[in-house]
Amino acid sequence: MHYPELKLFIGGQWRGTARGEPVINPADGSILATLPHAGRQDLDDALAAAEKGFRLWRATDPAEREQVLQRAAANLLARREEIAVSLVLDQGKTIKEARNEVRVAHDRILWDAGEARRLYGRIVPAAPGMRKMVTRHPLGVVAAFTPWNYPLASPTRKVAGALAAGCSIILKGAEETPAGAIALVRAFQEAGVPDGVVNLVFGKPADISSHLIAQSGVRLVTFTGSVPVGKHLASLCGQHMKPAIMELGGNSPVIVWDDVDAELVGTLSARAKARNAGQVCVAPTRFFVHERVYDQFVDSLGAAAEALKIGTGLDPALEMGPLANERRLSAMQALTADAVGRGARLVAGGRRMGDRGFQFPLTVLADMPADARAMVEEPFGPMALVSRVTSLDEAIARANALEFGLAAYAFTDRASVATRLSEEIESGSLAINHFNSTYPDMPFGGVKDSGYGREGGAEGLEGYTFLKSVMQQAKP
Ligand code: NAD
Repeated sequence: MHYPELKLFIGGQWRGTARGEPVINPADGSILATLPHAGRQDLDDALAAAEKGFRLWRATDPAEREQVLQRAAANLLARREEIAVSLVLDQGKTIKEARNEVRVAHDRILWDAGEARRLYGRIVPAAPGMRKMVTRHPLGVVAAFTPWNYPLASPTRKVAGALAAGCSIILKGAEETPAGAIALVRAFQEAGVPDGVVNLVFGKPADISSHLIAQSGVRLVTFTGSVPVGKHLASLCGQHMKPAIMELGGNSPVIVWDDVDAELVGTLSARAKARNAGQVCVAPTRFFVHERVYDQFVDSLGAAAEALKIGTGLDPALEMGPLANERRLSAMQALTADAVGRGARLVAGGRRMGDRGFQFPLTVLADMPADARAMVEEPFGPMALVSRVTSLDEAIARANALEFGLAAYAFTDRASVATRLSEEIESGSLAINHFNSTYPDMPFGGVKDSGYGREGGAEGLEGYTFLKSVMQQAKP
């Protein structure tokens, strides 16, 4: 099976380094390749290249930027199968999910490509002879840090957003799953993006972020990852007065009300929870289910979880792959043991599958104690935690009880319930009667500890720009 050669991309050139770390296949623990790590000189070269690239790119007609992005999107799609296989190999997702990730990346680039031409300013009414204009400008070099769960779709948001707005970028891809970022950068290179506009590095995350954030040439930091790392990077940004987009973790609530077909919602929930083996920042996790449909929902969710086709490799019928790394496997084992130890009822899963690779089944825990660790931390794995509720007040209070506020879901046919939830749930998104919380044309991001800034939607490029107020009088 094809896995790409791993390199850094700096100033329009692919380069290797003497240092490197192995990349592991989560299906069986074998080594796929060695990833070069950037040293100080590589980072400084990347910054110099990105500053040069920015001067060129900011002066490029937005219509031309749009075309480069469109070509990059087409390049990704043209190589969809090869890229999808590489995502299966280093991340562990199913081939179906990997193909979908390529499609999602394509769609996100196309959306931002169009937005490049819609970065409107404003004319403010003024006295005769005076022009008051609010204009929008690209910030400059962006330093972007992306995680291992969506190795292509996550960097796509940042690269497409930055480039559409006229910024250049230094992307630090995920070291454990580097193939997606490499495929993305290659698609842009072959689309004719000028040298230095897109740069890709890998290495020790903490060394790269602390070095780049301190540089005056870096004008924006964008990070997707965990809350603790996000808070650390936000504090570094504060020290150096850098604006930041922080897309952090969640522990998303799902409110299932008494007017729905609980059996159907149970089945849909198992499929949604299995996506990317639960390693999704918006994964549905805490299910608050009305007491009247509770037993039916738990039975259906448990049965659907046990019926999932879980495995490794390229079988298109697979519904869930292995976890991406050993840390997640230990976390799932510890969180399950903690929940059961506090009185939760294990309905499905709960134990590692096999002894090679990192497979863990979809685990359903019912009658969840509110103080179980999985109910307050971000489990980031295939765990569905079900609790019985008796009133909407209780469901809303429990949904809002955590410091997270990324995504939320609800299933109800009642307009009054849906309206209250859309007004009172504290989260960046709310999906009602389905499980999709990201669309290219909708802004995505969190509130509370889940971060700030938005990616995608009509607002997606705002974070990459600054406003200038120009007040121009006809004569002195
Ligand atoms: P982690 O918190 O150490 O790392 C999370 C991500 O941040 C990784 O991609 C890592 O490379 C990066 N990172 C870590 N320290 C960094 C630093 N100082 N500077 C720049 N980047 C840094 O833990 P992990 O085991 O890799 O992931 C586990 C947790 O991360 C999960 O429980 C989940 O909460 C979170 N996570 C969230 C997302 C998301 O989409 N929001 C994605 C992946 C992981």
